[in-house]
Amino acid sequence: MEDCLFCKIVNKEIPSDNLYEDEEVLAFRDISPQAPSHIVIIPKQHIRSTAEIDGSNQLLAGKIIAAASEIAKKLSLEGYRLVFNCNEIAGQTVFHLHCHLLGGRRFGWPPG
Ligand code: AMP
Ligand code: ZN
Repeated sequence: MEDCLFCKIVNKEIPSDNLYEDEEVLAFRDISPQAPSHIVIIPKQHIRSTAEIDGSNQLLAGKIIAAASEIAKKLSLEGYRLVFNCNEIAGQTVFHLHCHLLGGRRFGWPPG
């Protein structure tokens, strides 16, 4: 999709530090890390947010989580947090579905 930052990363119009790629999923280091390991995992297909996940594309959500699991093992993370921000009120700033994989430090609960 035009004017979508993460579509531009998929199309290599913007550089990224990739950690994982397959036909449907791409993962790269977050440009503004909130933890020692902070990776963004996206579907290559433009989907606006988790609000657009339904029966037609739910397999992609599983693939994103499977990629997170593989990356976490590769980085030898003891534990990690997966975050999907959905819509502006929840902190979403890039409106192309993505999962944050955060690790390398302790996280509090409940989140802020
Ligand atoms: P969110 O706030 O959930 O929409 O997350 C968007 C994330 O994308 C933020 O953590 C940003 O730091 C990250 N981000 C923005 N631009 C880039 C970029 N060019 N490369 C990597 N990560 C980015
Ligand atoms: Zn996009």
